[in-house]
Amino acid sequence: MENNNNNNTSSSKIGRRFEGKVAVITASTQGIGFSIAHRLGLEGASVVISSRRQRNVDEAVEKLKAQGIDVLGLVCHVSNQQQRRNLIQQTVQKYGKIDVVVSNAAANPSVDAILDSQESALDKLWEINVKTSILLLQDASPYLTKGSSIVFISSISAYQPPSGMAMYGVTKTALLGLTKALATEMAPHTRVNCVAPGTVPTHFASFITDNDTIRDSILGKTPLKRLGTTDDMAAATAFLASDDASYITGETIVVAGGMSARL
Ligand code: NAP
Repeated sequence: MENNNNNNTSSSKIGRRFEGKVAVITASTQGIGFSIAHRLGLEGASVVISSRRQRNVDEAVEKLKAQGIDVLGLVCHVSNQQQRRNLIQQTVQKYGKIDVVVSNAAANPSVDAILDSQESALDKLWEINVKTSILLLQDASPYLTKGSSIVFISSISAYQPPSGMAMYGVTKTALLGLTKALATEMAPHTRVNCVAPGTVPTHFASFITDNDTIRDSILGKTPLKRLGTTDDMAAATAFLASDDASYITGETIVVAGGMSARL
């Protein structure tokens, strides 16, 4: 399989739109979150990365530092209130403000049909995929600068929840609504937008992308005839978070190789 997770973005190809800015990205020690941190960091942001495991945080911090990126790494399971608050407090203690929040964490704990789902699985989906994004923003909002920007990471599944991950898709649909609701609530101080990735071969999606039949079926429905890369998602997120998108709020960009054109 081709490696779609390379961080091929080099500083020579990109600008410095985030010079002097501070960006907090959740679930960012690998996959899409890591690439977003990498991209924003290459463009000059001080990036605050986090995930559940200290070892993953340490490794990701080292990789970013090796590229000359200013990075703070913290353990933060998004469901843990104390760790969420610590994430914001440590960020403000070190940098004094927050310009960008990318809410990227998600779980997909069950392949059950919605009507067969355990209550615990429904709770986890709501909690990790939607509720903790709101709670994190409640903690962050006092420190958000004028002109700040929020980006939620939804999914192409938001538009047509696939069987086998239908309730996951529904939580991602909720993020589309949350984007619009918060865009109104947080304007004009803060913009709120969303990226809906297509399929990207990461650890999270390996149960899909490692299966040749499913993978071929996805490629068959993708006009651009390839899977997405984490850098594709990072580029769209960086655009929405940047001043290049200063007149855009409440919107979702689908980054799925044209797949939504065929839904
Ligand atoms: P990934 O490569 O598996 O990375 C997940 C990252 O999140 C890791 O750094 C992991 O580190 C961390 N993490 C997992 N659970 C966490 C939690 N509860 N709290 C904090 N950190 C947590 O996943 P990905 O594919 O990049 O997915 C990122 C986002 O993209 C998700 O919102 C997902 O729904 C969305 N998305 C992905 C695809 C795709 O095809 N890959 C498609 C559409 C949407 P630790 O293990 O150390 O916690």
